[in-house]
Amino acid sequence: MEKIKKIGVLTSGGDAPGMNAAVRSVVRTAVYNGIEVMGIRKGYNGLINGDIFEMNARSVSETLQRGGTVLQTARSKEFATPEGVARAAEIAKIFGIEGLVVIGGDGSFRGARDLAKAGIRTIGIPATIDNDIGCTEYCIGYDTALNTVKDAIDKIRDTASSHERSSVIEVMGRDAGYIAVMAGIACGAEAVIIPEKKFDFDEDVLRPIIEGKNRGKSHYLVIVAEGVGGALEMAEEIEKRTGIETTATILGHIQRGGSPTVDDRVYASEMGLKAVEALMEGKSNRLIVMQDHKITDIDIDEGLAMKKEMNPDLIRLCKIMSW
Ligand code: ATP
Repeated sequence: MEKIKKIGVLTSGGDAPGMNAAVRSVVRTAVYNGIEVMGIRKGYNGLINGDIFEMNARSVSETLQRGGTVLQTARSKEFATPEGVARAAEIAKIFGIEGLVVIGGDGSFRGARDLAKAGIRTIGIPATIDNDIGCTEYCIGYDTALNTVKDAIDKIRDTASSHERSSVIEVMGRDAGYIAVMAGIACGAEAVIIPEKKFDFDEDVLRPIIEGKNRGKSHYLVIVAEGVGGALEMAEEIEKRTGIETTATILGHIQRGGSPTVDDRVYASEMGLKAVEALMEGKSNRLIVMQDHKITDIDIDEGLAMKKEMNPDLIRLCKIMSW
């Protein structure tokens, strides 16, 4: 097998803290192994438009601790068409890019699969704060987002318990309630409402608040995932039905930013290294994932077919801890 000479790296879809650590790892692993590495700006858009530049070990200095992505990211409608993929593959070939590392979510991996079919070797690295990719226990950015949510809720709680208030807090998670459930355990929520589980307002929200009050609690926390939404209406209803002053806070985009945590930096570094090593071994159409706490690689199509179920033990833990 001929040694791979030149690779590319891009970030795609929603940004996530730790993407820079992954880019840095890809660049430095490549340089360490004598492989040329090209940075591609703004995801697949940049590939189609030839927004491509040469990187070296120093190009990624001072990026490890920064949130967001220095390569910038985008959602490209044009790329997600057969013509777009063909054009992207052609540009990659013109630049001599034999292998591509795609850092993003499952939409980005569908693009990587299409590019692999068009003759560009691709390896995906999961990065999305929602942690909603079925084939991996861990996605880059999730741990930082969770810690941001924890800090925000702790602050809201300080003021709320001084006034015996109830707080409804909306956190990220369009299709997955992982941030909501983990924050519920870490911050002590009375109720957690997630997209994976139908909820009944009286039973799942009002009852735990009223029972908590009867057990002598001074603060009531309800966490709602973005995919369910309706935090403002929920707060109004709680106040109307219980007489407890209730505020609503939508945490929004603060959950995307910030300096990545140690976990996000270390796992992103490990995944970047594995991605380049996979390309060096001649692999393509693979995802770097965490399974049973180990970083390994699996076929993209197999990975995309896997669904992430919410672990019912986590919901049970959250409920018992709120007692
Ligand atoms: P996040 O989880 O943060 O949303 P993502 O990678 O899932 O990240 P998407 O917007 O779904 O984000 O996908 C990113 C890009 O990948 C899209 O803009 C598009 O160019 C490409 N893409 C998405 N779906 C497909 C598909 N089915 N086929 C080819 N390319 C796709």
